[in-house]
Amino acid sequence: MKPKTKVIHAGIFGDKYTGSVTVPIYQTSTYKQEAVGKTKGYDYSRTANPTRHALEVLINELEFGKGGFAFGSGMAAISSVLMLLNSGDHIVITDDVYGGTFRVIDKVFKRLGLSASFVDTSDLAKTEAAITDQTRAIYLETPTNPLLKITDIQKTAELAHKHGLLLIVDNTFATPYWQHPLQLGADIVLHSATKYIGGHSDVVAGLVAVNSEELAERVGFIQNSVGAVPGPQDAWLLIRGVKTLALRMEQIESNARKIASFLDAHPKVERVYYPGLKNHPGHELAARQADGFGGMISFDVGSSEAADRLLARTKYFTLAESLGAVESLISVPAKMTHASIPKPRRDKLGITDGLIRISVGIEDGDDLVADLKQAIED
Ligand SMILES: *Cc1c(COP(=O)(O)O)cnc(C)c1O
Repeated sequence: MKPKTKVIHAGIFGDKYTGSVTVPIYQTSTYKQEAVGKTKGYDYSRTANPTRHALEVLINELEFGKGGFAFGSGMAAISSVLMLLNSGDHIVITDDVYGGTFRVIDKVFKRLGLSASFVDTSDLAKTEAAITDQTRAIYLETPTNPLLKITDIQKTAELAHKHGLLLIVDNTFATPYWQHPLQLGADIVLHSATKYIGGHSDVVAGLVAVNSEELAERVGFIQNSVGAVPGPQDAWLLIRGVKTLALRMEQIESNARKIASFLDAHPKVERVYYPGLKNHPGHELAARQADGFGGMISFDVGSSEAADRLLARTKYFTLAESLGAVESLISVPAKMTHASIPKPRRDKLGITDGLIRISVGIEDGDDLVADLKQAIED
C-alpha cells in the first residue's frame, strides 16, 4: 500500500455493527458484561475504548509497529514512555528538545531519580561519550525544534543497541507520513498528535508506537495504570485528521520549499534553518532518512525589535504557539515555546531573541511568500 492509500485504508475501516464508513465515537465509560468477566473485549474505557482502539491500530500501522497507544497529550505520551525507566537510571537526550520535554525531565523526573544528559545528538560521537553505566535509553527529536537539526536515526539505533539501550524518537515534526523511525531501528516512536496528525488546531493528544510485543505490554500497562488517555471525541478527530495527512503534508512541503528559498535569498534575513535547503548541515541525511523535509522553518532576523516588527505585519501567519496545522503560524521561540529554557542555555543553543519560527500551512504558497516579503521589507 502506498502512503497516500495507507492514510485512508490503514487501521479499522468503519463500523461492523452499522456499516458506517467512519469509526463511530463510542462515548461510553463502561460496558455490559454477559457474565462476570465475559466481555466483548471492552470493560472500562481507561483500559480500552473502541474509538481509541481504532486510532491505536491506525498509528501502529502508520509507524510499522507492534503496538500503538493513544494519550491525552504529547506530554502525557512522553511522560508515560519515560515511566518505563527506574529511579537511578540515566538517559541521553537531544539538547534542543521541545521545551516541555526538557521541563518534565528537569523538574519532575529528576526529582524522581532519573538523570539526563542533554547533548547534540546530531553528533554521534557526543551521544556515545554521554553514555554511562546507568544509561538505559537514548531519546531523540529529529528534526529538532526550533533549529531543525537532524540526527541519524539508524546510526543512533545501532549505537543504542550496542550498549543495550532503548532508542526513543519524537517524530512529531517529520510525521508518520514522511519518516518511520521504527523501520530505521528505533524501539519507540512518539508524537504530539496535537500537531500534524490532528492538523487543524482543534485537539490535544499524543500517540506512541513500539517495535516489540514486550514493549507493547509494558507501555500498555503504564497507559492503563497511569490513565493519561484521550477521550473518544479526540480519538475520532485524530482518525479524521489522518485521512488528509498526505494531502496536507504535500501542500505544506511545497509551500515550505518556496518560503525557505525566498528567506534564504533575502538580505534582511541573517540565517535560515530548513533541512530542505542544500546549505543545511543535515540536508543529505534528512533526504536519506525521510521522504520529506516538513513544514517547519526557523530564521533569524537579528534582533528582538526586528522580530517584533515582522510579527506585527504578517497577515496570513497567526501569532500562536503550536504548529502543524492547516493555517500558517508564527512564533518567537525564545519568548514563547522555549521560554521555560533559561536564557543562557537558549543563547548557547542558538535560540536567539531574533529567531522566528514558522509552521507553514496549506494556503497558497505564493500568498505566503508575498506576505512575508511585505512584512520583512515594510
Ligand atoms: C508540542 C510538542 C510536544 C508536546 O505535545 P503536547 O501535545 O503539547 O503535549 C512534544 N514534542 C514536540 C516535538 C512538540 O512539538
